[in-house]
Amino acid sequence: MAVMNSDNLFLDEAKALACVHCGLCLGACPTYLETGNENDSPRGRIYLMRALQAQRITVEEALPHIDRCLGCRACEVACPSGVQYGALLETTREHIEQRHRRSFFQTVLRRFVIEKVFPYARRMKWALWPARILKRMGRIVWLPRFIRDSVSLIPSQIVATNLPEFSPATTEESRGQVGLITGCVMSVMFGDTHRNTVRLLNAAGYDVVVPRMQECCGALFAHGGQLETARQFARRNIEVFERESLDAVIINAAGCGSTLKEYGHLLEGDREWAKRGMTFSAKVKDLSEFLFDIGFIERVIRESSIAPPSSSVTFHDACHLAHPQRITNQPRQLVKAIAGGSFVELPEADVCCGSAGSYNLTEPAMAGRLQQRKVRNIQSTRARTVVTTNPGCLLQINAGMARAGNSDVRVIHLADYLAEQLFTD
Ligand code: SF4
Ligand code: SF4
Repeated sequence: MAVMNSDNLFLDEAKALACVHCGLCLGACPTYLETGNENDSPRGRIYLMRALQAQRITVEEALPHIDRCLGCRACEVACPSGVQYGALLETTREHIEQRHRRSFFQTVLRRFVIEKVFPYARRMKWALWPARILKRMGRIVWLPRFIRDSVSLIPSQIVATNLPEFSPATTEESRGQVGLITGCVMSVMFGDTHRNTVRLLNAAGYDVVVPRMQECCGALFAHGGQLETARQFARRNIEVFERESLDAVIINAAGCGSTLKEYGHLLEGDREWAKRGMTFSAKVKDLSEFLFDIGFIERVIRESSIAPPSSSVTFHDACHLAHPQRITNQPRQLVKAIAGGSFVELPEADVCCGSAGSYNLTEPAMAGRLQQRKVRNIQSTRARTVVTTNPGCLLQINAGMARAGNSDVRVIHLADYLAEQLFTD
């Protein structure tokens, strides 16, 4: 047996040993549901992580199964032992990225496209132009499958954000002031969703501040094993939002929200920043969580006459809202408040759609299988509208529905759904 050296101690053994191998998480794991392979399950992956730390296996042996993990953290919800799978995964990925030399293609994809373009709104705006032109050209059979699949994710209508730095409440009196995190994908592709988010918050009685100097939340780096870069983004955001007097920091993208709520954990061990990270994270609220908590919808519905839609509406749980943040009831209640009897539950609503940050680019085969699984479940409900809370899910499900010939099914962000029902102009 190889001798363990301190360079190889990437895993918190106590956290890993919390797994008692009961297997209760297996049925919640999307990749295990698809492959039935123990190595593609949470229990199997924790075993692989420990074997990697003990140098009983090589990075190359563990890699396919660790790469195939969506990081959706459905296993954490199912686990009776409270295993912090997300934390184990992040440090394992960091260890792997520091030691493994990826193929040229994967290196360009991860180190350039995902890390140097996606987190920067201006770069992403430029990078989207050729992709949009290709999309307009229609079916581009001569391009490699990977590029065709990536292009298919881009919506036909892209609206960039240009929000004012300050939007006052539209009620007689302001109830307080909140900040808005605009994110990277959301700010480049979902400008209307941001505008509707601000409108909803203003109508709920809150002034909204959008600090110009804010940056990417760092999720893409944290999930990809680049923890130090994620920490740099976290410090900058904390500093920028600390300058404002805010009751809450609102986020309307589930994937970013879970990272923002874990800045305290990300910065633990950093004497100057850990406490500031925890204070910042305590203020972060998903839009659905905030609107539900302040009773906004009940009030608006009481004061207006909303007719329930004539066709069925369903709700897809974004993994990072349902699992790390454990928020499933609030967005559902908001949708149900409008849809009434037209609401229909989605089978496997909280099983990942395959988007998972940049997963649909790095692991397109499994992402495609999960996309089809989601599409089949949506088709079984006969819903004409699918509401969700994360840009990645919106793109992934939209592309899946279009590919399945169901372009008439609307996939829409919760903020847009609420706004179109509540505001008539
Ligand atoms: S994070 Fe998701 S894909 Fe990864 S092991 Fe847990 S449930 Fe499975
Ligand atoms: S449910 Fe928890 S303790 Fe049981 S095998 Fe899965 S991770 Fe381990």
